[in-house]
Amino acid sequence: MNLIFVAPPAAGKGTQAEMLEKGYNLYHLSTGDLLREIANSDTELGKEVKELIDNGNLINDDLMLKLLKEKISTLNTNGIIFDGFPRTVNQAEMLNELMEELNQNIDKVIYLEVDKLTALKRATGRVTCSNCGSIYNIYFDNIVDNKCDNCGQILTKRNDDTEEKFNNRFDTYMVNTKPVIDYYKNLNMLYTVSSIGNKNDIYNNIKKVIEGK
Ligand code: AMP
Repeated sequence: MNLIFVAPPAAGKGTQAEMLEKGYNLYHLSTGDLLREIANSDTELGKEVKELIDNGNLINDDLMLKLLKEKISTLNTNGIIFDGFPRTVNQAEMLNELMEELNQNIDKVIYLEVDKLTALKRATGRVTCSNCGSIYNIYFDNIVDNKCDNCGQILTKRNDDTEEKFNNRFDTYMVNTKPVIDYYKNLNMLYTVSSIGNKNDIYNNIKKVIEGK
């Protein structure tokens, strides 16, 4: 089973994809995580990518496709949860072609719907574990000594999770990614799930969509 998550920034894609990865034995492919790894490398490409991410701008479609292909070629999995890809209609078309080449298809596209203020609060409160990828929120989770509950690593904030950067990312989303939602709606592949409230309730609603209930 292959799934796509489309949503505004900080809507909870990463958190839900992490839960689904465990529940359904799928691979959580976060293009944001992939890019942050490159941004941390001491290379020209790393510097370029870091600047784009930090300003809430998108990395160009051809590079994204190349990185995605490289990543998928290393995977041996039941299925993939695409978290953060596609972010443009062009990327959605590229993904269709890639799936066809791989003799695969996308089963469902899940749109996590959330208002801007809720997403802003999730962004400014978010802390992540660079070791195991767990995601927490200082406003909603009980965090002890700023350490990951799962592996004990010190938690860090993303550079792009300030209010100003969030606003840029939200604008980018409205211009480039909102049309992706209409694209999948027209293909009858889109399922909308509210991403307001408790993460377990949201997860249960996503499960209902996946299991066709
Ligand atoms: P995320 O972790 O999904 O919030 O992504 C963080 C940042 O990585 C985004 O704000 C973009 O700058 C970049 N990014 C992630 N996925 C893509 C993509 N599919 N296309 C272009 N840029 C991306």
